[in-house]
This record gives sequence, structure tokens and C-alpha cells, in this order.
Amino acid sequence: MTNKLFIYNTLSRQKEEFIPLHENFVGMYVCGPTVYSDVHLGNCRTFISFDLIYRYLLHLGFKVRYVRNITDAGHLEGDRDEGDDKFAKKAKLEQVEPMEIVQKYTLGFHNVMGAFNTLPPSIEPTATGHIIEQQEMIQHIIKNGYAYEVNGSVYFDVEKYIKEYPYGQLTNRNLEDLLANTRELDGQDEKHGPLDFALWINAKPEHLMRWSSPWGVGFPGWHIECSAMSSKYLGDTFDIHGGGMDLQATHHTNEIAQSQACNHKSPVKYWMHTNMLTVNGVRMSKSAGNGFDPDELFTGNHPLLDKGYSPMAVRFFMMQTHYRSTLDFSNEALTASEKGYRKLMSSMELFDKIKTSATTTSDIATLKKNCYDAMNDDFNTAVLLANLFEGVRIINSVYAGTETITEQDLETLVNLFQDFVIDVLGLQPEGSSDNSISDGLMNLILSIRADVKAKKDFATSDKIRDSLKQLNISVKDEKDGKTSWSFE
Ligand code: AMP
Ligand code: ZN
Repeated sequence: MTNKLFIYNTLSRQKEEFIPLHENFVGMYVCGPTVYSDVHLGNCRTFISFDLIYRYLLHLGFKVRYVRNITDAGHLEGDRDEGDDKFAKKAKLEQVEPMEIVQKYTLGFHNVMGAFNTLPPSIEPTATGHIIEQQEMIQHIIKNGYAYEVNGSVYFDVEKYIKEYPYGQLTNRNLEDLLANTRELDGQDEKHGPLDFALWINAKPEHLMRWSSPWGVGFPGWHIECSAMSSKYLGDTFDIHGGGMDLQATHHTNEIAQSQACNHKSPVKYWMHTNMLTVNGVRMSKSAGNGFDPDELFTGNHPLLDKGYSPMAVRFFMMQTHYRSTLDFSNEALTASEKGYRKLMSSMELFDKIKTSATTTSDIATLKKNCYDAMNDDFNTAVLLANLFEGVRIINSVYAGTETITEQDLETLVNLFQDFVIDVLGLQPEGSSDNSISDGLMNLILSIRADVKAKKDFATSDKIRDSLKQLNISVKDEKDGKTSWSFE
């Protein structure tokens, strides 16, 4: 059924046909979170986008090894090897061990990923669990002549490297551009050149996370972990490497350099980058102060939020935009997504109730083809959803009796929705796992409302109805005195 899959490769700045290095197998590495605080919705966008990509590759029948790391060491506050260690700083603030910080936010991250119905990666390696591999890689790079040691720290020699290999291709920058974006070395700097970056950092006595190494006690630089872990689990060259666009210029540029300097091979065939989630046009980030975490989003407990939104409505919101376009957060957009999501899911509830006929009035085969074409065009979920809504229109029309469908076409449509809505887009019926709890809670609330009404406390009874309305639950008082409720 499927045509060729095309993926936009940041390296070539064009869509390329996806041909895996080993037939039927895909190796995919995605830079995971730095677990020193709660992930914000922007981080989630990147991980949900790669979940979609993972799901579609699985749907196409590839055997995918999906590696997404946990950065639990080595990430300093500044991207240029400066500032405090993010974990140590938080540990001091909360008066706990750095690994307690790591544990707390790793668990939080997993809970959030679960709420968004993302599939767990095949391997989730940690930086602290791969110190030996990182040291071995650094030794290799030194041996090959692309790194040097100063006072117990090891730096990558970019100026030497740049003479033999291209550097900065991901952002299409040449040496002058790169140098223009760096500061002058201040004389105190141990680095030989302004573009050099740390592979291993000598630990000051107060530094909490520290390991022995051939160069003394220290800790790894941020970029080396991804090179070491990706090559360990996926090989020196693998198919897909992903992350947010903000990682292109430094982190991924340096990953390429490290792997080339170690193995003399370009590590990745297809580099994929997701665009940013913004709030009023400004990239969501911890430092900009415009980040809310998913729990705040689900409960509505944040000044930027008019109300809470369910994880599935948020996932739908993300899927409505292609992963390479910016996505601007707004209450209006999320409210519209909530409606769209519910419309999509309600149409699927009609499948069992549809009566089939001898003929079909709409072209189901073309609809199916359009869904695959959209996804094969660099995972275009925006176009996929537009096609699925054409499917929704057909389902509703057949249900209303204004169109007809054959048994075979209905089966195609049911499978199409199962494949694309549930398996690929990763949407699922809201509260599917806790229906009994929500039903129980609603019965409780409505019985309290019946009690206050019986006592003629209409103000409280109206307040309950209005508050539920704000949660998009409508309460209807029936003629027989009973009360029913439904999601709007
Ligand atoms: P970090 O925990 O900061 O290392 O980031 C984890 C991932 O989230 C990286 O791939 C980042 O590129 C990505 N990311 C950070 N901010 C945003 C944002 N506003 N929108 C989309 N992705 C983001
Ligand atoms: Zn990385």
C-alpha cells in the first residue's frame, strides 16, 4: 500500500528517500531530557514528535531500535562548558543527593510521557551509566590527535579537526560565521581555540558528581555522552538522530565531530530536528519563564492557562502542526483542538452503529492513499488529520443516512482509523483507563447536587452545573427528574 517514505534531512536541507542502512531495521537515537527539573511542554513536543515518527516506522513494519538517553550528568548551565553543574545546583538547593534529583525527575518524566501515551524507547541509557564508554571514546579521540589534555581536563581540538572535516554543516555555517559567534579566549582559558569544547572536565573539590579517569577526577562534557551511547547501541553509523532544533548548532555539531574524530565515519544518515513550541512567539524555556509543566496544563493551574486540558487534547494539538513548523501555544488553539479531538473520537464510536449498503458513495481507497501520502511526506500529520476529518465526514454522513458504504469499505475505514488515529497518532479515547473513576465521581457530584436542590439551595446547584460546564461537562436535568451528563 505504501509508497516511499521521504524524510527531511537537516544535513542536506532537503527531503530524501528513507533507505535504512540495514534492510527492514531502523536505528534511531533521540537526545533525551536533562533530568534536573520537570520537563515543560516544549520538551514534550519534541518527544511526542519522535514518538509519532517511531510509531509510523513501526507501522510500516520496520524493526526499530529506538534509543533515547537520560542526561543525568555533565550538563553545565552554559552550553560552553561553563557555569554550575545543573544537578549539583539543584541538589544543593533542595539539600539532597544529586542522584535523588535525577531519580525524582526521571520518574516525573516517565509519568508525563505515559500520560501523553508515548511508547517507551527500546533502550533508555543514562550518562552516569556510561562513564567508561565515554572515557574510552575520549582516549580514542586523543589517540587520533583531535583532543588535548590541560590540567586534568580534555578538550576537543576544533581547529585541527576543521582542517580535515567539514564542521558546522547542520547549521550551514563556515569557519568565519562560527568564530563570529564565539567569545575571545580570555587568557585564563585552558582551551587552545575559541571553538574547542570539553570532553572531560576536571572536578573542583566542591563538585559532587565525580569519577576517576586517566586524567584525574572529573566528569564528562555534555556532548560526549550521546556519541558514546549512540555508537554503543546503534553502531558507528546509524539511520536517524533526532532532537530539538536548538541542539543543532552546538550539541549535534559536536556529536558529529566527536564520532568522526573517533571512528573516521559520519555517525548519522538522517538528522531530524523538531521545531520549537512557542508562547506568544517566544520559545518556551525554563529560562524565559514561560514554561509550564504538563501537570499545570492538565489541571489549568497556571496564570497562562484559562483552564485544564486533557493529555489527549494536547497530543492532538501537537499533531495538527507538522513537526518542522513552530507551534504557538494559546488557550484558543487548545480549546479548538479539544473539540477536534472529541469529534474524531466520537466518530469512531459510530462504527458499530453504521448500517452497510450495496454501494459506497465516497472514495475510500483514495482516502487511504492520501493518509499514507501525507505520512510518507516527512510525517505530515497536519495533512493526515485533514484526511482523517474527511473520513469523519463520511462516517457521520453514512450514520445520518445521507451517504452509503459497503461492508468492505467500512472495514477499510475502520482499519484506517485504527491504524492512523490509534497506532500512528497515538490518540486514545479520553480517560479510557479510568472511566469507572470518572463515572463514580460524576454520580457522586450529581447526587450531592440533587440533595442541595431538594433543599432549595439553587445557588449551589447552579454553581456545580456551571463549574462542570467549565470542564466541558454538560449536565442536563431531564423531565423525569433524573439528571444526565456528557462531555461537550
Ligand atoms: P533538555 O532537557 O533541555 O536537554 O531538552 C530536551 C529536549 O527538548 C531537546 O531535544 C530540546 O531541543 C527540546 N526542547 C527544548 N525546548 C523546546 C521547545 N520550546 N520546543 C520544542 N522542543 C524543545
Ligand atoms: Zn544528545
